[in-house]
Order: sequence, then structure tokens, then C-alpha cells
Amino acid sequence: MDYYSSQISKLIEELSKLPGVGPKSAQRLAFHLINRPLEEVKGLADAIVQAKENVRYCKQCQTLTDSELCPICSNPARDSGTIMVVETTRDLAAYEKTGKYEGVYHVLHGAISPMLGIGPQDIRLKELIQRLQGDVNEVIIATNSSLEGETTAMYISKLIKPTGIKVTRIASGVPVGGDLEYIDQVTLLRALEGRTEL
Ligand code: ZN
Repeated sequence: MDYYSSQISKLIEELSKLPGVGPKSAQRLAFHLINRPLEEVKGLADAIVQAKENVRYCKQCQTLTDSELCPICSNPARDSGTIMVVETTRDLAAYEKTGKYEGVYHVLHGAISPMLGIGPQDIRLKELIQRLQGDVNEVIIATNSSLEGETTAMYISKLIKPTGIKVTRIASGVPVGGDLEYIDQVTLLRALEGRTEL
């Protein structure tokens, strides 16, 4: 790529490290950015740096947030004795949109997948187990109904069972997948209400 200025080459190289961006897309993005007004490009660069500097994992539930504790964990009206375990922050958002769940969450940031080499130590399970030393009445496992989600649910239930804490699983048969955020709220609530003890 020596026929570009080294600065453009550098920009293309950085952009091509993004997921789903191949060399061709990276070139297109680079030239697009260079042709935009400076203010606009600075706005984008600032948003990236600000998000990176300020977004972090909630100390308690591990969701992405701007402060030490997310708004849900720091809300005294929420029932901190009921923890719903989800795979992603997007799943948490889907349940929050129903406006009917009063407990708190735990975000794993993934699921166990022997095929992809993702083990229990690669998701935020350790943090969940630590939370169980507090006052917890029930852990609701709301991982996806995919093979990975089910494997994770079984693993977690086996870990928690000996503690005597109630472990439930959201109703199966609900088309929960990568698109949990698109499932209508009625279906989500039905899955939650129809949860069964493991
Ligand atoms: Zn939190």
C-alpha cells in the first residue's frame, strides 16, 4: 500500500482491525473520513475516545456503564435478592424495556462454548459466584436457548445448587437467540413468568 501516503496507509490499517471491516471497506472508510469536514471527524474521534475512557463494567452486575455502579444496581427500589443472568448488555436492555422486572442482573458477556474454546473462565462467572455470598434469594438464568446458552445454564445451575439458593430457568420454547432484543415484550415476560426451578 505504499502508493498511499503513510498516514492514509496507517488509517486504513487501523480501520481494517475493526470486526467485519475488510481491506476494501477500510480503504473506503478512510477516504470517506478524509473527505468529511474536520469538525465531523473530530466529533467521531472524540466519541470513540470518550466512550473508551468512560464506559466500564458495573462493579456489581458487570454491565457496561459510565459509573462505578450502573443505574439499576444503584437503584434502592430494585430487588437485589433476585439476580437475572443474561449473556449480554443488549439482553439486559430487552428485559428492561418490559418495565416489569424488578430484580437486578448479572451480565456474563458471552456463553460457554467448547467448540469455540470459550470456557467458564472466559465469561464473568467468577463475579457472579462472588455476588452469591450476599443476600440472594433467586438466580434466574436467562441465557439464550442456543447450545451455548443451555450449556452455560447447566454449568451455572450446578455451581449454585450446593449453596441452596433457588435457581430457575426462563421458559424454554421461546425463540431466544442472538436477536433477543427484537423479541416482543409479551413473549419475554411470558418466558420470565413461566420460569421453572432447576
Ligand atoms: Zn450494575
